[in-house]
Amino acid sequence: MNSTMHHILFALALFLLASPIFGQQAIIRNPEIRQLVEEVNADSLKKYTEKLASFHSRHTLNQDDKNGMIAAQNYVKAKFLEFASKSRGRMTANIEEFVVPGDGRRIVADATVGNVISRLPGTNPNDPRIVVISGHLDSRNKDIMDAKSAAPGANDNGSGVALVMELARILAQSEFSATLLFVVFTGEEQGLKGATYLADKAKAESWKIEAVLNNDIVGNSNSSETKISNNTVMRVFSETIPLAEDERGASIRRSINSDNDSPSRQLARYIKELGERYVDQMEVKLIYRNDRFLRGGDQTPFMKNGFTAVRMSEMNENFLYQHENVRVENGVQYGDLPEFMDFEYLRKVAAINLAAAASLGQSVGMPQDVKIDVRGLSNSSSISWKAPMHGKAKGYFVLMRETSSSLWEKKFYTEDTKLKLPYSKDNYFFAVQSVSERGTESLPVIPSPLSR
Ligand SMILES: [Zn+2]
Repeated sequence: MNSTMHHILFALALFLLASPIFGQQAIIRNPEIRQLVEEVNADSLKKYTEKLASFHSRHTLNQDDKNGMIAAQNYVKAKFLEFASKSRGRMTANIEEFVVPGDGRRIVADATVGNVISRLPGTNPNDPRIVVISGHLDSRNKDIMDAKSAAPGANDNGSGVALVMELARILAQSEFSATLLFVVFTGEEQGLKGATYLADKAKAESWKIEAVLNNDIVGNSNSSETKISNNTVMRVFSETIPLAEDERGASIRRSINSDNDSPSRQLARYIKELGERYVDQMEVKLIYRNDRFLRGGDQTPFMKNGFTAVRMSEMNENFLYQHENVRVENGVQYGDLPEFMDFEYLRKVAAINLAAAASLGQSVGMPQDVKIDVRGLSNSSSISWKAPMHGKAKGYFVLMRETSSSLWEKKFYTEDTKLKLPYSKDNYFFAVQSVSERGTESLPVIPSPLSR
């Protein structure tokens, strides 16, 4: 090839890189995670959901051990133990009981209730990080205090529990540096009781929870009222200003303008990037809210205790079925029944969760002490950090975006622990993530200012 030809090709390559109309994104899938994602199965999810909905009621205060809440908890625990048999003796499962005090509102009198928890310990005993994948088991009908009548709760939240079970089934066979906790909460509808119990305990015992992936109402793809049918979009809710922010945190946030960079928001972006990398025909929509109007979720007690948590939900809700008594009225069937669900959609939501959870489990820790030098006037940005506390990073990505952009736009790779970029610190936002030997990214950390 002559030199003119070289020049033309070089110019063409530059043009392709620079031109937005040829904007392209390299999709590099880690074969191990790709394989795990492919194992997520719509039929398994349907089977679990139908079984969960077949219990007469999973109301928190239902005590029926034949066909009610206690029986449902025993079913989930038995399935966890069945999956654990493939974990070479590592995974455990139990029902962790606690007393929820009567509050004169949604808990009539003191009651003993339980969360079902399955634990897959990390392979590195020096790595204390925990990734929580959760959903609530309890169901309700129109009357929040009715613990006796039918409450199948197929989508709210049989879908989230089926998702947690399916991830436990698949991930039990794999090894991760961090510990994975599969949690099926009780008492969500009665006021986030199970999640509050666990989040308070985690705080009191200083658990190193890296992320909480909470799933609630994730298996329907048709909206009521607006009649939208779309099984290619889901939502991730993340808090904007951290619920646990103190005065010092607020002061730092104001000085660096990190209003759109809470740890939960970073987790939401991470789920979007990793999820969409591995799951085809699925868009993760970031919702800049802790939750929907009038509604709450089990992610909130974790946020209140300073943990990084998000809520995942379907994009288009159908209010004909949620919290409704099972009945036929004017020829219309009401009630939260499996027949209204879309299990191919639920498969994709589960696959997004799996891609994120497996990546977090496999990653090394986040970079430490991430700083941006703001001591002088300059048209570049100097960022430095220290190696993660857990695991050995092969390198790091420095992430960059316009201050007006929601998502990270550029990733600069380095094997050093500092990087100077010819982009003004005044005009962009930055973050740093660790990259493991296998190429898996950690959650990103935004820099705090290194000042005089
Ligand atoms: Zn729910």
